[in-house]
Amino acid sequence: MKTHPESIAAPALDHRAMYRLPWNLPDNAISWLEPTSACNLACDGCYRENVAGGHKTIDEVRTEIETFKRLRNCDGISIAGGDPLLHPEIVEIVRSVADAGIKPILNTNGAALSMDLLRELKRAGVMGFTFHVDSRQGRPGWKQKNEIELNALRLEYAEMLAEAGGISCSFNSTVYEDTREQVPDLMAWAAAHIDIVQVMVFILYRQAVPQLPYDWYVGGEKIAYADLHYHEEGSRQVDMKAPDLVATIRERFPEFSPCAYLNGTEQADSFKWLLAGRIGTKQAIHGYIGPKFMETMQAGHHLFTGRYLAYAKPHLAAKGRSMLLFSPFDRGVRSAAGSYLRSLMTSPARLFDGLHYQSVMIIQPVDFLPNGYQNMCDGCPDMTVWNGELVWSCRLEELKQFGQWARTVPI
Ligand code: SF4
Repeated sequence: MKTHPESIAAPALDHRAMYRLPWNLPDNAISWLEPTSACNLACDGCYRENVAGGHKTIDEVRTEIETFKRLRNCDGISIAGGDPLLHPEIVEIVRSVADAGIKPILNTNGAALSMDLLRELKRAGVMGFTFHVDSRQGRPGWKQKNEIELNALRLEYAEMLAEAGGISCSFNSTVYEDTREQVPDLMAWAAAHIDIVQVMVFILYRQAVPQLPYDWYVGGEKIAYADLHYHEEGSRQVDMKAPDLVATIRERFPEFSPCAYLNGTEQADSFKWLLAGRIGTKQAIHGYIGPKFMETMQAGHHLFTGRYLAYAKPHLAAKGRSMLLFSPFDRGVRSAAGSYLRSLMTSPARLFDGLHYQSVMIIQPVDFLPNGYQNMCDGCPDMTVWNGELVWSCRLEELKQFGQWARTVPI
């Protein structure tokens, strides 16, 4: 990714200067459906117990879709797991979500995806894919590959979607303390493929580890941290914050500017979901949209459809030039427009290069505060169904194990 000479360092992160995404419990961009807990990989940072053959029936899945419709407005449903492509009726599940008038997004590691299956899913109405690809998956054929080498696999998936056409392409990666330094390379790779990659998501690694200074309780009963499904021995970092990753990205791309966020349930100034939107060609990123543009996209979509926007179709993300018309109202877009026009003056042939929009999201899951409170994502988009209620999908195993959340009390 080129950094433009006129690029200036982005300001320090200040949540009051950003757009607080309007998502909340009953009215949200997305929801999270898990038709299976079976998976064909074993990702290091996975929150879910891998249960072979752990598929829900199609009737159970439809009941959960009805629960979402009853409890929550949502634009899209992430169909996750486990790996959803392992469910024998995944095509029917996608069709059921689409028939409910909600955008089906498949969250998959991609290992079971073939071109034939992709075409079937497209006919059933799939609107987007989020591929989880990172270096801690034990992926056959890709073991020992680092994040940069895995860009070759990311490109394979992005090109499959591009060939099928009309399907949004997103990637997510769990970020560990020792892979954090490779994130700028992923940002550069995504920029170079901005025509076929619409979203990059970085999820900061979390697990229950022995160095956390808490006693764990379920109700009044003390449990060991090792009783939790998502625990690990050892002392890896589990408290990286979104601003830490922003600092790493800015070492190489000082202009990187998130414009919107979700705060934490316990800390107003924490960035649980931190969103940036950039406009560029395959040759160069010209700028980052500001909060006004993001607010217009979310509020405008809600005004006209009754729902906050989840994923945009690729043909909309390719309308970078139309987005520049928003320059009078948004400083970020204005700056991107200036950079783009200057690039055309030095090289008019660039007029024929497509100008695209790409989102970059950093997700900071549960944080444990010194007083033992757990800082969750306020307005969690990834709520799933458990016993007919909406619950945090990242902590579903606690409910499955104990029937309630585990609490932390400082030692
Ligand atoms: S609360 Fe958990 S499930 Fe919800 S968005 Fe945050 S990390 Fe994801």
